Amino acid sequence: MSLSQLFKIVKKNFQEPTPIPAAAPPVNSYTPQVAKKMHEMLTKHVPADAVEYCFDLWKEQPFSFKISRSRSTCFGNYIYKDGQHKITVNNDLSLYAFVITYVHEIAHQRAWLGKSRRKIEPHGKEWKKNFQVLMSPILNLNVFPETILIPLTHYMSNPAASSVSYAPLARALQSFELGEKSGILLSEVGDNQWFTFRNTVFQRLEKRRTRILCMERASKRRYTILATARVDLVEA
Ligand SMILES: [Zn+2]
Repeated sequence: MSLSQLFKIVKKNFQEPTPIPAAAPPVNSYTPQVAKKMHEMLTKHVPADAVEYCFDLWKEQPFSFKISRSRSTCFGNYIYKDGQHKITVNNDLSLYAFVITYVHEIAHQRAWLGKSRRKIEPHGKEWKKNFQVLMSPILNLNVFPETILIPLTHYMSNPAASSVSYAPLARALQSFELGEKSGILLSEVGDNQWFTFRNTVFQRLEKRRTRILCMERASKRRYTILATARVDLVEA
């Protein structure tokens, strides 16, 4: 498929939603250290061309953000509790499933902030509209491969609660999850060997109990990574 054909499909299936009113003033505040950590987490988990946009969404309306262990029941979660917005996203998602889930959860926050009625449906029209508006700047080939962008654009025309309830999108996302499983287990990597994990180069240092101490090449920082993580070997 040529680019112009693709853009025709994208255009046909996704009408630019009307903008929602300007966001309310931020409820949470944050420190430079928290902002730095947030930026680092996004750099590891979302496609490179979406990092700054995702970071800006957080700065506009900060929330406490945690990357959680895989839950089979959901990809992510949003709650508002004790005056705090809290978002979690599973750690085992591909970059693409991660960014879709991240924006899905922020749409819950924005729907909550913008609600005029006492009650809104969790995935009702307020959420749908916010999700469409927030996704539109990243619905492009810089962020998503064509195989995901086409079904994703269809899905975004009327998003359902779960991105995997739309089979073509689920299949496209799954093919990238499987792609990540093509590497080897970190436990099989020799000490001092270099490998990539989530687009970042590390050196394996030593085994702890269930995790392995590693050093990130660029920052020389040390991290522990699960021994069962899938990684790819690189030449030193
Ligand atoms: Zn949801």
